[in-house]
Amino acid sequence: MRLWLSLLLCLPFLGCGAELHYRLEFSLTQAGAVRGEAVVSGVAEGPLSELVFRLYPAALDPTYLWITEVSQTGQPLAWDQVHPTTLVVPMELRAGQTFSVRLQFQGQLPPLPATAGYGIYARSPQAMVLAQAYPVLAPWEEGEWWVRPVLRWGDALVAEVADYTVQVQLPPGWEVVATGVEEKLGPGEFSVRGENLREFFFVALRGYQTASQTWGGVEVESWFLPSHREAGKAAARISGQAVVLYQELFCPYPFPELEVVEVPLKDAAGVEYPGLILGGESYYARYPEGEEFFAEIFAHEVAHQWWYALVGNDQVQEPWLDEALATYSSGCYLVAHGGDWEELIQWWELAYERASQHNPEAMISDPLEKFPAGIGYGGIVYRGGAVFFHELRQLMGDEPFFRALRRYAETYAWQLARGEDLLAILQEESPVSLRELCLTWLGEGSYAGAGTKGGDGRR
Ligand SMILES: [Zn+2]
Repeated sequence: MRLWLSLLLCLPFLGCGAELHYRLEFSLTQAGAVRGEAVVSGVAEGPLSELVFRLYPAALDPTYLWITEVSQTGQPLAWDQVHPTTLVVPMELRAGQTFSVRLQFQGQLPPLPATAGYGIYARSPQAMVLAQAYPVLAPWEEGEWWVRPVLRWGDALVAEVADYTVQVQLPPGWEVVATGVEEKLGPGEFSVRGENLREFFFVALRGYQTASQTWGGVEVESWFLPSHREAGKAAARISGQAVVLYQELFCPYPFPELEVVEVPLKDAAGVEYPGLILGGESYYARYPEGEEFFAEIFAHEVAHQWWYALVGNDQVQEPWLDEALATYSSGCYLVAHGGDWEELIQWWELAYERASQHNPEAMISDPLEKFPAGIGYGGIVYRGGAVFFHELRQLMGDEPFFRALRRYAETYAWQLARGEDLLAILQEESPVSLRELCLTWLGEGSYAGAGTKGGDGRR
């Protein structure tokens, strides 16, 4: 009954295309050199005097990704590189006016393990990983461009959903796995289409194996190294079970398929993209040792398909919004599959306390910059945030709590939500006041609707 109700409520957002469109072309060499072109078309959401694009990989090194030319209907446009990660293209647009800008870019994937960062823009002998490997239009929200600092910890991307049409050319023997639906056109030639993607991501793989199965009507496809077959199958099963559970608790999975890909990562166990999640190779290599944490990785990243890909948020100013919800959702998965709430809450509380000792100034609802070098970030934002959601659930009761999460997913589907939006819905569905609990866990301002959005961090 619950599932059918949520299906009906969620249906309107499925399949409707975004107003922003990217046509991307990439060509890659064996040595990780990237050449590409992006045609970004959309509608001005207000009167604009410029378009602002982000080059996320350039935060680590400006030679990782740079722009070589910007043009409109064949005419070159001037642009201002105000920061390695930020490109301003002056352009007068009325509200509602359409635009279409062509940007040519080049890049270089650094080899692992030498590169800084999580390994999400890097290459190894069997995988080229290309996160945010193209100019991404910054979101225009509340009358300003949201241009956040790109820090070396946490997730950097803040973006509106868009439709993507992509062509990828790879050296012989490599295959594409991407957000969206891939099609092989010929040797080394691929096309990908995706709707309502918060970002386009792809990996080029060689020598991988794959296994797929349908879970809750969603095809889950796992990509793994031949020597990690058992782990690759387990990753698919856990991800599929998580899809089934979250569809029941929240609303239907928002994409046509889910891909689960093993790649070498650094300082991260897993990473989420729309319709695609990454799991760290070292965890596959160790499996079945560390089985419980292995399950948590995939249960967490799958939850981001609802809390990040479907309902977006400012991951730099309010990272708790998707991370604490994803962690809490993974707890629901673990308990549904043999775990114990009491033990889990104890572990989360312990992690929260320890992290708070290392970073006593930081709170769950703080922006990324309050966790220099990531100190205390996981313990406070993920685990502390998850304990907060558990306390909310205890106070509200199961029905109102999950009803609120379903309403949040429906109301803010394909948008960027704020902490105060979620808290307002929770309060509306709650039979009792949440004020004290919110003030205790999130601090002043969180509950009043004042928001936690700080300066725009533009540089
Ligand atoms: Zn996460």
